[in-house]
Parts: sequence; structure tokens; C-alpha cells
Amino acid sequence: MEPCVFLKENLYDEIGPSKVVHIYEPKIGLRAIACIDNVACGPAIGGIRMAPDLTTTEVFRLARGMTYKNSAAGLKHGGGKSGIIGDPKKMSPAQKEELIRTFARALATLTEYIPGPDIGTNETDMAYIYDEIGRVVGLPRSMGGIPLDEIGATAYGCYHAAVVAEEFVKKNHPKFSLKGAKIAIEGFGNVGRPAALFFRQYKDTVLVAASDTKGTIYNPKGIDVDKLIQVKSEKGSVLDYPQGEKLPVSACLEVDCDVLIPAARPDSINMSNYNKVKAKLIVQGANVPVQFEAERKLHDKGILNVPCFIANAGGVICGALEYAGATESQVFPTIEEKITRNTRKVLERVFSKKMYPRDAAIALAKERVLEAMKFRKIHI
Ligand code: NAD
Repeated sequence: MEPCVFLKENLYDEIGPSKVVHIYEPKIGLRAIACIDNVACGPAIGGIRMAPDLTTTEVFRLARGMTYKNSAAGLKHGGGKSGIIGDPKKMSPAQKEELIRTFARALATLTEYIPGPDIGTNETDMAYIYDEIGRVVGLPRSMGGIPLDEIGATAYGCYHAAVVAEEFVKKNHPKFSLKGAKIAIEGFGNVGRPAALFFRQYKDTVLVAASDTKGTIYNPKGIDVDKLIQVKSEKGSVLDYPQGEKLPVSACLEVDCDVLIPAARPDSINMSNYNKVKAKLIVQGANVPVQFEAERKLHDKGILNVPCFIANAGGVICGALEYAGATESQVFPTIEEKITRNTRKVLERVFSKKMYPRDAAIALAKERVLEAMKFRKIHI
């Protein structure tokens, strides 16, 4: 077994992390990490990731991302994240259940942390956690959960971020219009799929490209979104859509389009390909899909990014509402209100103070956390 890698030097600052806990139960092979970054705004919400190569540093970075996301969204929740080291594809349902239940019991005393689903965990796992400790978000609908992927909560937030961004994109591209815009979506999954539907429904947009791990389907005349969804679910890949050019995975980021929604994985747009991006607006559906340096270069070229934790907060807003006992009908209006307000705040700062979007977003989130910390008694 690899030695435990604790936080490398300097991975802490005036915000956190407040707790980093390693959990080890050799009898069932459980190795897990929980990181509570900051709880000044309230109990930390953040998912449980299950991956074979998870590290403490990664969990901390994800926890900090949640601190910023929750604070920027104006939620009364701080940020945290946790993870189990293991490959969910290589274990039986019973093995996974045992790991999840044991991990949940270890979280019982970390009462300031509310776990949720993330890569490698799902609503069934959340139901086990609820059964163990009664504290979780992302439950099945039958247990009072609001299934955020089914309703497209994150995609709905991305759409509203784009609506606000439109007037700011026009500063560099006066002819830009969301109405009828050409859209490319990297990653036609739980975020990308409903995004294609919302943009088409409200703005008659034309989907010109979509990708998954197998490749990119491209048709400058437009792809029938309903048909693409059907083909992807029946045959497994966007490449099975018949009317279009089949291109490599990376091509989706480089096609001629107005709006690009990277909704697949981190660092898709980086220093080696940012120069090929033709979109005028990038709405970041995935977490950190654009490397920071590349994001700045894009901004300097007049391509506006709405940073991930501003644009993709719809999912956690949905989780926070579920935790507060809200009903499903409250989810969309709340996402619209919060994402509209916060995207505007960030983009106004970008243009009035000549800041990069991510710097403006972090400044906004950090100010709110530091303000909340003034009211907090130390109780560690
Ligand atoms: P998903 O697994 O449902 O979909 C991801 C899609 O991306 C799949 O179609 C997959 O084939 C495709 N993909 C993977 N690697 C790719 C690559 N290299 N190039 C092109 N396509 C690729 O996942 P999701 O729930 O849609 O989440 C997408 C991203 O957004 C993830 O990074 C996730 O962490 C982030 N995110 C999701 C939510 C949410 O509500 N689901 C909220 C915030 C952030």
C-alpha cells in the first residue's frame, strides 16, 4: 500500500481547511479522506468522490471549491468534500455498500459536514448514508430527494449564467446574440444534455457540435437535440448520430460556434488548445474545465468565461434546497434568482475593475466567507 500523503506544505490559508480527517478500516479495505474547509456560512455541503487515485490534496482542493461555490451562490453553507479511495467499477454492490456505510459511521461525529453524491457515488449510496447518520443531500425521490440530474438543475443554472453574460459579451462582440446562437457542448451527459434542451427551448439555439469520450459529432447546419439524446441513450455515443461529421474528441472545443459549454472534465481547454477556441462565450459546466492560465489568455483575446463555480452552482443550490426541506417547484426559480444575481455581480466587477473573471469570482466568494467569519466563535 502507498504511504499516506498528507497535505503538502502551504495548503492552508486564512479560510481553511478547518479539519482534514483520514479514515482507515483495514478489515474491509476502507481508506477515506474527509476535508472540512470552512463552515463560517453554515454546515459544509460537498460530495463524496470514489476514485482509485484520490489524494488528500485533491480532496482539499475540491473542498475549497465548494467553499467558494456555496458562498458565491449565497447559500448558508460552508464547503467540504470527502472521498473513498477505490474503484466503484471494480467492486460488487455489497462491497460498495459496506464501504459507504462504514464511511458514513465515521462521518457521524463530523456534524458540520453534509455529504452528497459526486463522481463514483450515487443516490443509492446517499440513501445508505441517510440510513446510517440521517444527514445527506442527493437522496432518491422516494425519500424526499430532488434528483438534480433528472431535472437538469446544473444545466438550468448554466443557461441563466449565459443569459446574464450576453450583454457583457456584446462589449467585445456587438453582434453577439444568444437568440439563435450556435452552441457546442463538450460532454453530452447529465449537464450537457439538458443544457442543449434549455438553450434551444428558451433561445432557439442551434447545436452544432457535441462530444463524449468516443468523439465529436459536428453539423454546422444544426443537430436535432431530441434525436441526439435518443441515439446516445440507445447506442451509447454521439457518434452514432447519422447526420454529421465524426471528429476527434478534442474537435468539439475548436468548432465554429458562439457559445461553448465544456461539461466533461477538468483542464479540457489548456495552453495547448486555447488558441483554437472560436466561441465568444464559454459557460463552464464542468469543474475547472479551463486551466487558469488559458482562461486568462482567452479573456485577453476577448472570449468571456463564466467561471465554473458561478455557472455550475445549480446542482448544489438544488442540494441545499433539498436539505432545507424545500419542494421541487422552488428549485428552478431559486437557481435562476441566485445564478442571475451572482453572475451579474461577477461580470460587473470584471468590466468595472478590469479583472479576470475567475479573480472577480474568487474575490466575491472570499469576501462573503471572511465577512461571515467575523461572526463566528471558535469552537474547535
Ligand atoms: P456525466 O458523466 O453525466 O457526463 C459526462 C459526459 O462527458 C459523458 O457523456 C462522457 O462521455 C463525456 N466525457 C468524458 N470525458 C470526455 C472527454 N475527454 N471529452 C468529451 N467528453 C467527455 O457527468 P455530468 O454529471 O454531466 O458532469 C460533467 C462535469 O460537470 C463533471 O466534471 C462534474 O464534476 C461537473 N459537475 C456536474 C454537476 C451535476 O450536477 N451533474 C454539477 C457541477 C459540476
